[in-house]
Amino acid sequence: MQPIKDRPSGTKAQCIRCGTCCEKGGPSFHIQDRYLIENGTIHTRYLYTIRKGEFVHDNVQGQLKPADSDIIKIKGKSPSWECVFFQKRDKSCSIYDHRPLECRLLKCWDTRDIEAVYEKDRLTRQDILAGIEGLWELIADHEKQCAHDAINRAIQDFHGVLSKQAQDVITGAIQYDSAIRQLVLENGNVAPDMTDFLFGRPLTVTLKSAGYDIQ
Ligand code: SF4
Repeated sequence: MQPIKDRPSGTKAQCIRCGTCCEKGGPSFHIQDRYLIENGTIHTRYLYTIRKGEFVHDNVQGQLKPADSDIIKIKGKSPSWECVFFQKRDKSCSIYDHRPLECRLLKCWDTRDIEAVYEKDRLTRQDILAGIEGLWELIADHEKQCAHDAINRAIQDFHGVLSKQAQDVITGAIQYDSAIRQLVLENGNVAPDMTDFLFGRPLTVTLKSAGYDIQ
């Protein structure tokens, strides 16, 4: 979905199915969307998680800021952010009748409805996975070892060179993040395209998108 502040403020009063919002990226999920995952309409392989503390573009305030909680989103067709459910040939949505709340509320000519819910009742991984014994403990442990808040504190004074302490925090987190992904894949219980939902995108990727090219 297109950042709200970037949208043209024309006189359009209905959706003309231009597809611009879907081309700019998929929606974030709210509690009201949980049933779509639970009943299998939207498989978690099509989702990824922005973890708490991860820098994210706030579409309402139009600025980059750390996420307050998990933000679960529909993946883009990498390398573009175009929603994986967007069908370019006829500018349609392959899950239109079951599209998430934000897609149903978004009117690019009047953003009041979506602004009213945008930061409310965000769906989290815990809402979906807390009951899955073994998996949830793994995710909670990953969150503890690789917390974005701790990494943000470590790099807040980054000016090209990291202190030894900051380096240890970041290197430890990157190694743990990579090891846990490898572990679940080796055990064969998780498909490769589900790791971005379970553990968020790899730390090396999220740090790079936040402007820190740390190896
Ligand atoms: S789910 Fe459908 S309506 Fe929503 S952004 Fe994707 S293609 Fe567009």
